[in-house]
This record gives sequence, structure tokens and C-alpha cells, in this order.
Amino acid sequence: MKFNIEDVGEYLKSHEIKPSYQRMKIFEYLIVNRNHPTVDMIYQALVKDIPTLSKTTVYNTLNLFVEKKIATVIVIEENETRYDADINIHGHFKCQQCGEVYDIDIDMDKIDISILDKFQINEHHLYFKGICEKCLKNFKK
Ligand SMILES: [Zn+2]
Ligand SMILES: [Zn+2]
Repeated sequence: MKFNIEDVGEYLKSHEIKPSYQRMKIFEYLIVNRNHPTVDMIYQALVKDIPTLSKTTVYNTLNLFVEKKIATVIVIEENETRYDADINIHGHFKCQQCGEVYDIDIDMDKIDISILDKFQINEHHLYFKGICEKCLKNFKK
């Protein structure tokens, strides 16, 4: 997913979202950092520049993005909701050591889900957990 920061406003508008400054900054954070942030992470990162920002605003904005289908919710961990602006189907790997959530490209054509042919699929969630390459390397040192 390629994105020009200047296009964020237009992108939001094309999905019937009024591009307020705060909304644009929140969406920008998602596509620039690609770190599958929690509400808290976004809030902490943006409140320095936007002192009027509240966690509720971040939360409501993210829910609006999800409702308009320009972001998805990731719930690898029950007590931790994360958000992703990459709406293409892909999997996620959470490192249980450093907590990082990685994108995993999945070739859906190679996965046989014909068993679901008669079902309507509304969401895809492909989650993996373990230790990431970076942490494995640190262990060995
Ligand atoms: Zn790790
Ligand atoms: Zn992702």
C-alpha cells in the first residue's frame, strides 16, 4: 500500500470521513509507523504536537476508521487492541519477547479455505506468536 502524506485528507474524504487535523494526524501515524499501535501508543506520540488531543478522541477516530473500512483491528492479545491501516489481507506475528507485531504476507490463493465456500467471510485474522528473528539473535549472544 503506497501512500503520499499529502493525500491523507483526500483519502479520508473519499471514505466519507471529515478530514479534521486530528484525524489526519492519527491516520498519518498509522501509515508512517506501520507498527500496529494501541490507542495509548498513538496518544503518547501525538499529544506532544496536539496538546488538545484526548485518548477518547484517538479511540473514537480509530473506531471510525474501522467502521469506514480504512483500518482493521488486531486482537492477538485479549487485553490489547491494536490498529492497522493496511487493509490488504495479511497475517501478523507477535514477538513474545519484545512485543513487536510484524506483518506477514500471506498468499491467500495458496491457502485452501474451500471448506468455507458456503459461508460468508466478514473478517480474516491470521495470528502467529513466538520469538522474532531479532530476539533469537540476541539470545544466542
Ligand atoms: Zn522480538
Ligand atoms: Zn499489519
